[in-house]
Amino acid sequence: MKHFNLEGIGMTSRRTRDRLVQRLRSNGIVDERVLDTIAAVPRHIFVDEALAHRAYEDSALPIGHGQTISQPYLVAAMTAALLAGGDGPPGRVLEIGTGSGYQTAILASLVAEVYSIERIAGLLERARDRLRALGVRNVQLKHGDGNSGWPAKAPFDAVMVTAGASHIPDAVMDQMADGAHLVIPVGKGDVKDLKRLRKSGDAWRQETLDQVRFVPLVRGIAR
Ligand code: SAH
Repeated sequence: MKHFNLEGIGMTSRRTRDRLVQRLRSNGIVDERVLDTIAAVPRHIFVDEALAHRAYEDSALPIGHGQTISQPYLVAAMTAALLAGGDGPPGRVLEIGTGSGYQTAILASLVAEVYSIERIAGLLERARDRLRALGVRNVQLKHGDGNSGWPAKAPFDAVMVTAGASHIPDAVMDQMADGAHLVIPVGKGDVKDLKRLRKSGDAWRQETLDQVRFVPLVRGIAR
């Protein structure tokens, strides 16, 4: 798998990870690139050691600061939705909500460049350490409020928001290239619509892919 140097990292067994992939497959994930990547990226290094034995369960787990590493099924479904949205793998991808860095690592192995923004500095620094330990090089991280996007790195070919939004941030839409697509959990209540939007000229085409629960996309930054 490109971009990953797994030597020297204590990994849980290949069999445990293959079981997770099997489960995702039986729950409807069909994109083999995504499944291969889930099999290759060691999720246990993105959670605290005390939770490492649960890293290959298909569930969200706490990562501190009241946040969670997303459920593998949702990571897979959102990644597949992002890849399927365009004509080929997107080149420049913006992720909002780095969290543990797990989704970042998955994206990094499938697209050319990942730009990821996290509002909680403590989480961002741990994610940075983990990505470095894995030898991931095509990721740039930023401590900031993802509601503003990352103007200096725009335009993006694809955007993934990994926190539940009440509405789609205007700044993010403005930073998308023509033909770019956005995957975002959005809606007023606790249960969000997982949407994929595609920008074409001034028009937007949108589809609802699923109903999901996420920690909220909030405003401002925090240590
Ligand atoms: N992809 C991550 C998901 C973490 S949960 C993972 O699998 O580990 C969502 C993350 O979004 C949290 O870390 C939260 O702090 C972050 N977040 C929430 N609002 C944000 C905002 N406005 N800008 C950037 N990050 C935000």
